[in-house]
Amino acid sequence: MTARSYDVVVVGGGLVGAAIAYGLGAGSKRVAMLDEGDRALRAASGNFGLIWVQGKGIDFPAYAAWTRGSARRWPELAMRLRAETGIDVALEQRGGLHLCLSERELNARSALVARCDAESNRVEMMDRAALATLLPGIGPDVAGASYCAADGHVNPLKLLCALHAAFTACGGSILRDRSVRRVTRERGSFTLTTAAGAIDAGRVVLAAGLGNAALAPQLGLSAPVRSQRGQIIALERLPALLPLPVETLRQTDAGTVLAGDSQEDCASTDTSTGVLAAIAARAVRAFPRLAAARVVRCWAALRVLTPDRYPIYQQSETAPGAFLATCHSGLTLAAAHALDLAPQIAAGTLATALLPFSAHRFDVAAPS
Ligand SMILES: Cc1cc2nc3c(=O)[nH]c(=O)nc-3n(C[C@H](O)[C@H](O)[C@H](O)COP(=O)(O)OP(=O)(O)OC[C@H]3O[C@@H](n4cnc5c(N)ncnc54)[C@H](O)[C@@H]3O)c2cc1C
Repeated sequence: MTARSYDVVVVGGGLVGAAIAYGLGAGSKRVAMLDEGDRALRAASGNFGLIWVQGKGIDFPAYAAWTRGSARRWPELAMRLRAETGIDVALEQRGGLHLCLSERELNARSALVARCDAESNRVEMMDRAALATLLPGIGPDVAGASYCAADGHVNPLKLLCALHAAFTACGGSILRDRSVRRVTRERGSFTLTTAAGAIDAGRVVLAAGLGNAALAPQLGLSAPVRSQRGQIIALERLPALLPLPVETLRQTDAGTVLAGDSQEDCASTDTSTGVLAAIAARAVRAFPRLAAARVVRCWAALRVLTPDRYPIYQQSETAPGAFLATCHSGLTLAAAHALDLAPQIAAGTLATALLPFSAHRFDVAAPS
């Protein structure tokens, strides 16, 4: 079999890989995106749909700034995707709320918000009375909320679809059912080995979610990622109930109410009744009228987490031209990945603002 050849190959067609591939494809390079296909364990297809800024990066200012920057560029991304593909990803970005269901939760949230950079994150606390004017359906347990104007939500499946469509519309190639087994670098170019043959590339971007753990060391990189399960309940379509998304509840543009999402140390995508019951109980405490709503579907998917939960963006020092990208908020960061990170990869150098995201932060000194 003859090797196909591209300027850049992106490994992984989830939200991270697709956003980067789209951003790269919009330039003049020949770009391919390789994916394991529909049977893959993919965080992107289980996504809740939030663009979430509040509370992010309290201990990691570079991440707070990166998240804010992405949220700011989301309208531009949504507009471009619509113009290039006709797909409306249903972006609504009028703010978001984190509900507190007791005084204890409210105090804990206030303490966390006090640690946020008030000027740039613009997170504010709302008492129950103020919240009730925004969300008239809240239950008696709701003590208040935090609010951030930069938060919003989109339809995550339409987003993934739009990124793939926009990527192919600008000349990119999607190669499905191509699980990359091996990546090597020789004389300045890369060869990716798949069951369907070898592929040559001038540059490689590893954006394979949990698959990065095995691929990164082959290029002198490190991706210490683990899975975390999240479960979501989809309720039937309801009349307008939630004008703004709440961190664990949102109403889609079609009226469906989604409730989630758990954070479980688990590598299985099975759902579990106990966790789903806890999600449902909390949703009903927040909005008692949800008790009468029918459940349509439940699912579980695996997040991709680094040890400190922050992204890794890095170029290999031993295999220049190989880049690694992984994060746990791939929808929130899709605009940054497509519009800011991809041009840096195309230029061959990551900006100094991304240096704090190197996996070297996990290096520990050997005991003397
Ligand atoms: C329940 C849940 C809710 C979430 N909600 C939100 C949210 O509201 N907002 C938000 O911002 N984020 C959310 N996330 C996180 C977001 O979905 C992830 O950050 C994002 O999907 C990660 O994208 P990814 O492309 O890195 O990984 P994935 O989506 O897992 O995709 C990885 C891809 O790489 C491919 N792959 C793996 N190995 C190989 C290989 N060897 N060769 C070729 N291809 C390979 C796989 O086929 C797969 O398609 C949520 C995640 C979960 C699980």
